[in-house]
Order: sequence, then C-alpha cells, then structure tokens
Amino acid sequence: RIRESVIPASETGVTFDDIGALDDIKESVQELVRLPLQRPELFNGGLLKPCKGILLFGPPGTGKTMLAKAIANEAGASFMNISMSTIVSKWYGETEKSIRALFSLAAKIAPAVIFVDEVDSMLGTRDNLNENEVSRRVKNEFMTHWDGLLSKSDQRILVLAATNRPFDLDDAIIRRFEHRMMVGLPTLESRELIFKKLLSKEKVEGAIDFKELAKMTEGYSGSDLKNLCVTAAYRPVRELLKKEKEMKDKNKKEKEEKSKKLEAEDPK
Ligand code: ATP
Repeated sequence: RIRESVIPASETGVTFDDIGALDDIKESVQELVRLPLQRPELFNGGLLKPCKGILLFGPPGTGKTMLAKAIANEAGASFMNISMSTIVSKWYGETEKSIRALFSLAAKIAPAVIFVDEVDSMLGTRDNLNENEVSRRVKNEFMTHWDGLLSKSDQRILVLAATNRPFDLDDAIIRRFEHRMMVGLPTLESRELIFKKLLSKEKVEGAIDFKELAKMTEGYSGSDLKNLCVTAAYRPVRELLKKEKEMKDKNKKEKEEKSKKLEAEDPK
C-alpha cells in the first residue's frame, strides 16, 4: 500500500501555473521547499535548516491537495499520498511497520514529499482521555521517524499535511510543523483569477464577464467554482443530445407516416 501511494514528480499532473490565486502561499513554499529538496548542501545545520514540515489548513476544497502536488512536482520530488487507511492495519505491530516502511521508502526515492491528507484523523487528538492505543502508537512511531529527519539536514524529505480541523491536532504534532499556512476561501479578486484559470483552456462562446461571476459566487471554494464550471460545460452537451433526439424522433415519425401512406395506397 505504501508503494502504491507513490506518484513520481512529473506525474502529479499539477503545476503552480494550474492554481488560480494563492500567490503568497505559492511564493513562500517555493523558497521553503525547493531549495532544501534540490540543494541540501546549502543547509549546513547552522542557522539555515531545511524545512521538514508544512501544515496547510483551511476549509474543504480550497486547493490544499492541489498545492501539495504542485509543490512536489515543481521541486522534482516524488509525491507520497498517505492517509489513515494507507497506514493503519488491524494486525498488531503492522501499523508501526507501515510507518517505518513509509520513511524508509521515502529515503530511498528522495527527494520526496510525504503528504498526509486529513492529518487530524491520523495524528490528531479528538479527546485525550479516550485516545486509543492504536492512535497513540501511530503518533509515536510517526514522530520518531520525523524527528530522525529533523536531525539530518541532508535527508531530502518533507512532511506536508492538510487538514480542515487544525485544532484537533496534537500539540506535539503542531510543534513539528515549522510552517503553518492558512488556505482560506478565495476573495473576490481570487475568485476572478480562479475562474480565469479554470476556463483558460475551454472553448467558450462570447466574452465572459469574470468580474460578475466572481461577484455572484461569494463564499464559494475553488472546488465549488470548478463544479460550477463543470455544470455549465454540460449545458451545451445536454442541448446537443436534446437536438439529436428531436431529430431522431422526427425522422422516425416521417418514416412511419410514409409507410402508412404507402399501405393506404396499396393495401396488398
Ligand atoms: P479537502 O480539504 O476537501 O481535501 P482541498 O483543500 O485539498 O480539499 P483540493 O482537493 O486541492 O482542495 O481542490 C479540489 C479541486 O478544486 C481541485 O482539484 C481543483 O480542480 C479545484 N481548485 C481548488 N482551488 C483551486 C485554485 N486555487 N485554482 C484552481 N483550481 C482550484
């Protein structure tokens, strides 16, 4: 399962150019991620230490996964897409083994980005008193390997995580993310930019008033804007199918009328 989670850098299918708006985040991660992954020798362990943990948090559908894939792609790093189901096993000891396998595979294929989606479900603490044994073991094992990375500046591995529930994360985990970035709902200007990005490769009829679209979509996430565009793109397809059906029905009717007429003229 760990092996299956690996996507080679060039195959994540997302670049920074595909992402509308979020310019400040794009800029800061470029600096934080690209250099340490590509030129680890510049980080000699003094004041300049390579970044090993970034947390992206914010409402659903705001582009956190997209950003993570673009970061790996642009840094030429393999992308390891990890979630609770990749790691946790019902067999005793297997969960820790998976985490060890994760970090050892990352070291082999480095530079690598370990992306933990919905990190709160894997490394969170909903309720400390009821925290179960498995979740404690997952966290301890993960933190041990992560700390191992922190002590070696030449290890070209970054832990990148996303969550909609940052307050459910364990304090010890939060501390290990040196950089925490809020990916919020897009502003009016950002929605305009995202619309432009989403429609940049589409054939559209007439001019689109992007400003008006942005005004009409307050509170929408990037994912909502994408769904809106997909729904709109279906409209001409639906109209075409409707026209094709009408044409077929008309032809069928004409054929039936013709054969009825022929029968009437020649009943034999
Ligand atoms: P979740 O928290 O639900 O996992 P997320 O924040 O990880 O969501 P993504 O999965 O990255 O969000 O975004 C979903 C889809 O929405 C993307 O695949 C993309 O099509 C679109 N999208 C979101 N934000 C943007 C953006 N800024 N520019 C272009 N497309 C975007």
